[in-house]
Amino acid sequence: MKVLVVGNGGREHAIAKKLLESTRIKQVFCVPGNGGTATTPGCQNLSLNIDDFQGIERFVMVNNIGLVIVGPELPLSLGIADYFQQRKMMIFGPTKAGAQIESSKSWAKELMLEAGIPTPKAAVFTDAEAAKAYVLEQGTPIVIKADGLASGKGVTVATTVKMAHSAINTIFRGEFGTDNIRVVVEEFLTGQEVSILALTDGITVEPLLPAQDHKAIGEGDKGANTGGMGAYAPAPIVTPELMERIQEEILEPTLAALQKRKIDYRGVLYAGLMITPDGEPKVLEFNCRFGDPETQAVLSLLETPLEDLVLACCQQRLGEYSIRWKSGASVCVVLASGGYPGSYQKGKVITGIEEAEAKGAEVFHAGTQLKQHQLVSDGGRVLGVTAAGETLEQAISKAYAAVDCIQFEGVYCRRDIGRRALGDKN
Ligand code: ATP
Repeated sequence: MKVLVVGNGGREHAIAKKLLESTRIKQVFCVPGNGGTATTPGCQNLSLNIDDFQGIERFVMVNNIGLVIVGPELPLSLGIADYFQQRKMMIFGPTKAGAQIESSKSWAKELMLEAGIPTPKAAVFTDAEAAKAYVLEQGTPIVIKADGLASGKGVTVATTVKMAHSAINTIFRGEFGTDNIRVVVEEFLTGQEVSILALTDGITVEPLLPAQDHKAIGEGDKGANTGGMGAYAPAPIVTPELMERIQEEILEPTLAALQKRKIDYRGVLYAGLMITPDGEPKVLEFNCRFGDPETQAVLSLLETPLEDLVLACCQQRLGEYSIRWKSGASVCVVLASGGYPGSYQKGKVITGIEEAEAKGAEVFHAGTQLKQHQLVSDGGRVLGVTAAGETLEQAISKAYAAVDCIQFEGVYCRRDIGRRALGDKN
């Protein structure tokens, strides 16, 4: 079978490589892909835009592609799954209605409240002054969230009223879109965050291994938030008992609430949770796709062929599978361009990937490009160096031994990825 993967990040490179482990997958096409998908044997990039549904459809038809997997949220929120389903083509990812669980935080909040899913208390406002008055009433810290997709920039954890009011002003100035502006003002929670990526065929929902990512740029979780500087799986904070509660109190009721709204959701349901100090799991956000970089860590431990699971979701046969995992742990360390998440330079020549892979790691590309046969940096997050080991400690050492082989001007990574799970303070 031939598969087409939509997206250009580390997540998509990891999906493509995982698919190619199976002898049944003949070829993977990536739209638009990156320097990694361009150089992976069996993989080919297509220079199409991710919102060019017609162009993608034409390629799928002409080349007899059996399955489309969508990486990022944007095409899902624009209805790529609806478009392909209407044409009877196999696509992995929810419809536009289902993608609202990520593309509208107020919609997701309403769904959670309706279904009794544990989530921080919140109020939704369409008027800046009313939102500001609510902040004054509630006090700080408080969390201000723009309603729509904002590439990770729409959330402010405000420690002062001034900060909260300024975040509200920014949202109502139209910084994250001018249509139907809404703000979610949410109770601030403390605890540990975990990412639960679950597969669903609209009937059953199966969690993958729990993961933790590291959003802040600096070690010890200091500094600005990024797209994610690394991840590890499984996250030991999620004990089998806690996973059972997450399944019963969060994943299953969410699927039931989607069904109640007549939404046929097939794809990834990703719950971003806060585990509060008293051990309660609460939903901070839902995403409608695989997380990046959690996917890189999680898929490297997956034993059941990925294409089997993805096809089972599309064909509503997920109940036939009990997902198998390799033992041990996995960690993904992101190498970023100096200056990220602020301004940074692109076009820096990257060396040492083969040496890194000789250490037993897999190097997934994110912001890279092949330019005149040379691999150069092309984004903020450049590479995800991923290694598995019998223990998390072994996985961490293997990943950093590989990280140390890679060079490009200005390269930056956090040195503490995964350390939190070993009990190190950060
Ligand atoms: P965007 O919508 O801009 O893409 P996002 O989807 O990543 O952002 P969230 O995951 O809801 O937004 O929030 C981003 C981060 O803000 C979380 O990972 C968490 O660290 C922090 N955060 C969000 N909500 C809360 C909360 N209620 N209490 C404490 N921290 C929170």
